[in-house]
Amino acid sequence: MNTQTHLLVAAAMLIHAPASTHCISAVARATDFRTRCQRLWQRIQSFVPHTSNRVFTVAVLFGALLPDASLFVMWIQAKFRGIEESRIWSELYYSTFWQQISAISNSIPVFLAIALTGWMLHNRTSFERVNASASSARYSSINQHIGFALAGLGLAAVLHCVTDLPLHVDDGHPHFWPFSAWVYQSPVSYWDTDHYARVWIPVEYAIALLCGVLLWRRFRSLQLKVVLAIALASYPAAFAYWYLSGVGI
Ligand SMILES: [Zn+2]
Repeated sequence: MNTQTHLLVAAAMLIHAPASTHCISAVARATDFRTRCQRLWQRIQSFVPHTSNRVFTVAVLFGALLPDASLFVMWIQAKFRGIEESRIWSELYYSTFWQQISAISNSIPVFLAIALTGWMLHNRTSFERVNASASSARYSSINQHIGFALAGLGLAAVLHCVTDLPLHVDDGHPHFWPFSAWVYQSPVSYWDTDHYARVWIPVEYAIALLCGVLLWRRFRSLQLKVVLAIALASYPAAFAYWYLSGVGI
């Protein structure tokens, strides 16, 4: 998927508003059916670490971006060297150096290990906090936030890899590195119009819109709404750029 979609999906699934404002008013307005859906959703959510804290929010967004981060570095560096767009994606992208980096940054086992470490750190420190003195409770609280943040980063990155896996034809990644070099070759590409991209692109934009609406309703901050509007507007802008640079679409 496009990087913006990964960010929107991770934010919609993992970042929550404080319970007092969002959940309570939603439950108060709920009809019977809605209450049941709400409870089911809360149950699903209870398996996922969530908090309204800023460190966690940044960690989730960073985790959702991380698998694609090397592509941005590669692209910016290539642009400075004056390499044309088609060469970046047909040659540079497949070079051993960038493929090795993206194998690491798209590895589900690596990010699962990070999420698990964070989750364990969080659980251990919340147990320690109960039986600790004031100063060590503060230290445990910092560790607990770090644990939460690592869990959020790892989960967001796993979500990115899992949603990328079925949408790459010949430009996929070995998502199970270092245990396997297997790369799934999907019949569907999120960008290549020779491989159903014309069918997929409206679906992806619908997913982005849905996540945008969820986040818009969940948070009251004006800055966030501006960021959401930019994120949704970035799709036509990106398509126009790819079209004009002759790469595709
Ligand atoms: Zn990706």
